[in-house]
Amino acid sequence: MIVRKPSDLPDHDPDFLPDDAVIAIDGPAGSGKSTTAKDLAERYGLLYIDTGAMYRALTWAAREAGADLDDGPALAAMLSDAELTLRPGRRQVAVHWNGRDVSTAIRAPEVDGDVSRVAAHAEVRADMVRRQQQLGRSGGVVMEGRDIGSVVFPLAHTKIHLSASLEARADRRLRQYRQQGKDVDRAALTADLAARDKLDSEREAGPLLISPDAIIVDSSELNLEDQNEACARACLVNAVADRALDSDLDTARREIPWHYRLAYGVFRALARFYGLREVGNAGRALPRGVVAAVNHVSLWDPPLVGATFHRFRIHTLAKRELFRPDFPLGRIFRMVDAIPIRRRGYDRTAFAAAARGIEAGNNLLIFPEGTRRAIGHPGPVKNGLGILVQATRAPMLPIFIRGSYGRHPGGSQLSPLEVWYGPVIRWHALDALLEDLDPKEASRRIAHVCESAFRELQERSFAATPQTDFERELGEQQLKRFARRQAKVFGTSEKAPAKG
Ligand code: C5P
Repeated sequence: MIVRKPSDLPDHDPDFLPDDAVIAIDGPAGSGKSTTAKDLAERYGLLYIDTGAMYRALTWAAREAGADLDDGPALAAMLSDAELTLRPGRRQVAVHWNGRDVSTAIRAPEVDGDVSRVAAHAEVRADMVRRQQQLGRSGGVVMEGRDIGSVVFPLAHTKIHLSASLEARADRRLRQYRQQGKDVDRAALTADLAARDKLDSEREAGPLLISPDAIIVDSSELNLEDQNEACARACLVNAVADRALDSDLDTARREIPWHYRLAYGVFRALARFYGLREVGNAGRALPRGVVAAVNHVSLWDPPLVGATFHRFRIHTLAKRELFRPDFPLGRIFRMVDAIPIRRRGYDRTAFAAAARGIEAGNNLLIFPEGTRRAIGHPGPVKNGLGILVQATRAPMLPIFIRGSYGRHPGGSQLSPLEVWYGPVIRWHALDALLEDLDPKEASRRIAHVCESAFRELQERSFAATPQTDFERELGEQQLKRFARRQAKVFGTSEKAPAKG
């Protein structure tokens, strides 16, 4: 949906917002992100972080030094040597470059004109993203920019895409400049905004795009007060839905039929034997009607993830060969509601069965990468996830499993065995996106959300328990093996072009 006035969203108790929430606001220049971000910071007691100011500071410094703005590596070197600080306050952010206060200088029209060129360099972005992640690591922040929801904090509690028509944005910027006593030509300013939008949206690294899980707020027709109110309500949408999640484990377990109990019991014994650690779902039943999307590294993944579930019924998609009559496990797969799927091409029957299961309020466990991937290198995610999500609108629960490969009876101490649950991701922007995007591109964006979720959960896991040498070596060996297999099949180590 697109929020065009505050009453498009209900008003809720502000206390619903968790203290460690990250609110990501992305959108084009002049859409009012800064003003609204400051307002949200005040309302909800969050720290306001303006990431545009960081790119502006580098642009200012590069201009001062007469540096070549098209030389990404040189700009990145300049940044890595610099002390760039945002002194965040509730309402004002002071920006210092190597100790010098540049808060005013970075707002000059010349910086406006060059900043998107500087921000387009992947090397520059990598360093900026790292700095921004550090600033917001412990949560309780509202961060505004272009790639906050898609790259910097892919698991942000709330993602808002704040947009407005080009005319409305040009009017606002013009007013800002006039208030500062600067006389700027309207046509030139409009052209400059349009050029920045184009550069920001079309660059390779961290482009401005609408993430399918963002809430779109169109502020073209809104006054400031209503824009702030609409965004403040948007911050509570996921919070309210999360409150409704089932945490009644006892009832959830009582509802489980005997064959699920048996399967879960066996899985749980197995998990306990191997010392599985469950993060993020302890004490919470799986919500109903979600797609549980798990990264895949080992054949042990399904039972180990299953050991952390507390709710029936869960369908899963399993390759058709496993259901052969001569294959004894096939019967068990059917008992636990597995759906056979043909691995080549698009299996319409399997997807329809999965969609029916979700609509009936069951869950679906899938491995959206379609095959096992090397340890430490999750993704890419195939289009199947997007097709399912478009067919059902089912929220996604990203789950990251670590340490299931390379284990043997007796257990391995060489890597921790963990299952990490992400937040429930809801596809607020999908309908609006599908008005402009073809379904394939929409599936790509959904896949991107999932890939980023896997990477982020992996980061968190590695931050809690650093990757072991064993894991690193195993991952590298797997990568080499996969590349060799690829080369054998396609005659190249590059990824073969996807078949239409
Ligand atoms: O938001 P603001 O207009 O201050 O941002 C200035 C420029 O910085 C943007 O036009 C964009 O090119 C860049 N930027 C970015 N990624 C961000 C924030 C800003 O590329 N997260």
